Amino acid sequence: MSTRPPDKETSGPPYQSVKGMRDLIGEDWFRMQGFFEKASEIALYYGFTPIEVPMLEDEQVFIRTIGETSEVVSKELYSLQTKGGSKLAIRPEFTAGIVRAYIEHGMQTLPQPVMLMTYGPLFRHDKPQRGRYRELYQFGMEILGSDRSINDVTIIRVVSDILNEVGLTNHFYKINSLGDKDCRMNHKKALIAYYKRFQKDLSPRSRELLKTNPLRILDSKEPSDVALKEEAPASMSYLSGPSKQHFKEVLECLEALNIAYEVDPALVRGLDYYNRTVFEYFIPNQETDESADNDKPQREPIALGGGGRYDYLAKILGAKRDVPAVGVGMGVDRITEGSGYKFVCPRVQKKARGYFIQLGAEAKMRSLTVIEVLRTAKFPIAHSLSKDSLGAQLGRAEELGIPYAIILGQKEVMENSVIVRNMQTRSQDSVKLEKLTEYVKKLK
Ligand code: AMP
Repeated sequence: MSTRPPDKETSGPPYQSVKGMRDLIGEDWFRMQGFFEKASEIALYYGFTPIEVPMLEDEQVFIRTIGETSEVVSKELYSLQTKGGSKLAIRPEFTAGIVRAYIEHGMQTLPQPVMLMTYGPLFRHDKPQRGRYRELYQFGMEILGSDRSINDVTIIRVVSDILNEVGLTNHFYKINSLGDKDCRMNHKKALIAYYKRFQKDLSPRSRELLKTNPLRILDSKEPSDVALKEEAPASMSYLSGPSKQHFKEVLECLEALNIAYEVDPALVRGLDYYNRTVFEYFIPNQETDESADNDKPQREPIALGGGGRYDYLAKILGAKRDVPAVGVGMGVDRITEGSGYKFVCPRVQKKARGYFIQLGAEAKMRSLTVIEVLRTAKFPIAHSLSKDSLGAQLGRAEELGIPYAIILGQKEVMENSVIVRNMQTRSQDSVKLEKLTEYVKKLK
């Protein structure tokens, strides 16, 4: 690390957070934490158990699974070499690490399927803009060890429940099936034949993809590629009997559950490891686009997340047998920034019921003992221990609209008591410290 001091000539603080990464402070932290807690609670009720995987993995865990030609690996992977020479990468997604853990810990021997959930930061060297960060947050769920369509539907249903609980009831899904290995191969051949005919009209990146990963051309947002996509062969036309049946079951179940979806034949997702069901979900973008032509002022819907099946991934990471599995990632930045998002209160955020006030040096010294009594009594408080004057402290309590003041003065220190004052009626009681828990529990 460089020890050179930062350039003093530039304005602003000498060190700032790295481009595309941000500090989560106050309300922003609570907003995100509240979502994680709500999503975890819902997933737990559905039978998911938590897992935490390391931020760093052998880079091959990502490269071999997500695919060398994917944007996530080719452009966005943060990789590093340790002093010992190991080549590691910072996780850009959860699935590959979780499958590595599933194999490493012999989870195949547990009753199947294994349902896991996790959340936290991911890192992608993406182009930062509104709603797109280099340190992004996701909530992920995976069901490993079963190929049954009910698992695909479970994942979609839980996502839907989570979004409904946080107010995003207007979300909708786009869904497609890529089929199994053979279907994918036949589809790929058809895509190559089709795009070869229009090679000169393709964007330079898609021309490259035609050689390396033709499926990905369907992902392109370049206008020339988008126009060609309309007539491109659809994966659904190449589904084998069992894959067709699987997809039919998924769609029937979604209909029975009243989950809004649209089949999008061009949906392939950006990562290599998917097969059969793939899906993404969105909310409408409420903002209008001033620069767009007047007929179409609405912006593109906001992508909140996506997922799908990855039945062949485990073998790539060394499993002896295929481990059929399905999973999802929820883009927490976009969800919590989405219009209509309803703030869910995290467990750690307690609204203060009392304002603790101390007067005099001895009271200040005793303060933390009284606060600990209040904490164990589950009576959340606010305070300003660094202030001395009664007026300033009472003023703050009034400002915050806190219903009770807990006052500790010289006399109370001697008597081992506190004064509990009702800020509205101004009535007050002297309460012995050993009776304080009992007393605050009775307060309305
Ligand atoms: P993916 O893992 O690429 O399928 O992305 C799933 C979801 O994560 C997306 O729909 C976004 O909501 C979110 N997401 C992906 N990349 C970023 C990013 N760079 N910044 C913020 N959110 C992201």
